[in-house]
Amino acid sequence: MSLDRSTIWPYQGGKPGDFYYSRYDHPTGAEAEAALGELDGGGALLFASGTAAAAAVVLALLEPGQTVALAEGCYYGTSILFRELGRWGLRFIEFDQTEAPPPEADLVWLEAPSNPYLSFPDMEAAVAHQAPVLVDATASTPVLFRPLEHGADLVLHSATKYLTGHHDALLGALVCRSDDDHTRLREFRGRTGSIAAPDTAWLMLRGLKTLEVRVLHQSESALELARRLSEHPRVERVRYPGLGDARAERYMSGGFGGLMSFDVSGREEAARSVETSTRLITNATSLGGVDSLLEARQRWEGDRVPENLIRLSVGLEDVDELWRDLEQALR
Ligand code: PLP
Repeated sequence: MSLDRSTIWPYQGGKPGDFYYSRYDHPTGAEAEAALGELDGGGALLFASGTAAAAAVVLALLEPGQTVALAEGCYYGTSILFRELGRWGLRFIEFDQTEAPPPEADLVWLEAPSNPYLSFPDMEAAVAHQAPVLVDATASTPVLFRPLEHGADLVLHSATKYLTGHHDALLGALVCRSDDDHTRLREFRGRTGSIAAPDTAWLMLRGLKTLEVRVLHQSESALELARRLSEHPRVERVRYPGLGDARAERYMSGGFGGLMSFDVSGREEAARSVETSTRLITNATSLGGVDSLLEARQRWEGDRVPENLIRLSVGLEDVDELWRDLEQALR
């Protein structure tokens, strides 16, 4: 695990070696990619953010006029990105990922589980479609779900979340089944300059050492909190794959992750009161770190989510302390 911040490496006998200019590749990134590639079972590439990775996929692998079928209720920023790229001829349609993708799709984009609705995709129906399938597995991580083993072509991670795990690194990753996709995306990344910096790649290497223990612990606490929340009189609904989602039970192994959402009874003010009353759980966006976070999602997503929906990312704090914090905030 070495951190090499060089931007250049000398040619050997007048010839560039594996590394020569860091916009194309660098040793720390390559080491981190090898580690992630092994976990997910494909060829990994690191990007400056999850969003940079998402942009690279559609710009490098699709043509203007082609259509992405995007899982409804998935990470809001992905739909914003695709809308932005509409100016360049990208089309996208949203569909219910628990059913088959629409026939006109040139790329199927799933999220497992989705953020913040926590739905789990019908992998078989998606893989049966003739278009390539990408799974954004940010919320499950390779510890719980490895989409390439279920026929997906590409995996996307916002490594900003669990893979680095401490809310201190912005990073994205793609893992490719085919060498052709890997080569094309690597070429595109070098040409557009969206590679991750060595420092953040190094933070992922460090994060991967504890990924499994973190994710398993967070999953255990999240399941317990989801159960307790679903019995709380001020909670109308809890969305968590571990609360009886048969598809998630089939595909995920070892747990259901640290992400959930719940609707507090009442309106926007009720959600605001909960999010501003927690003491241990921080009121901030993002997910996947060792510190628990929560926020009402309507501030970002508008009518796309209920005004009383709160997204909770469970960290590594003691589960009973987390519960006490939620209980007092729900009072
Ligand atoms: N995918 C999911 C599921 C996310 O939650 C996020 C960010 O919240 C992204 C992608 C985008 O990643 P980044 O913020 O690293 O660009």
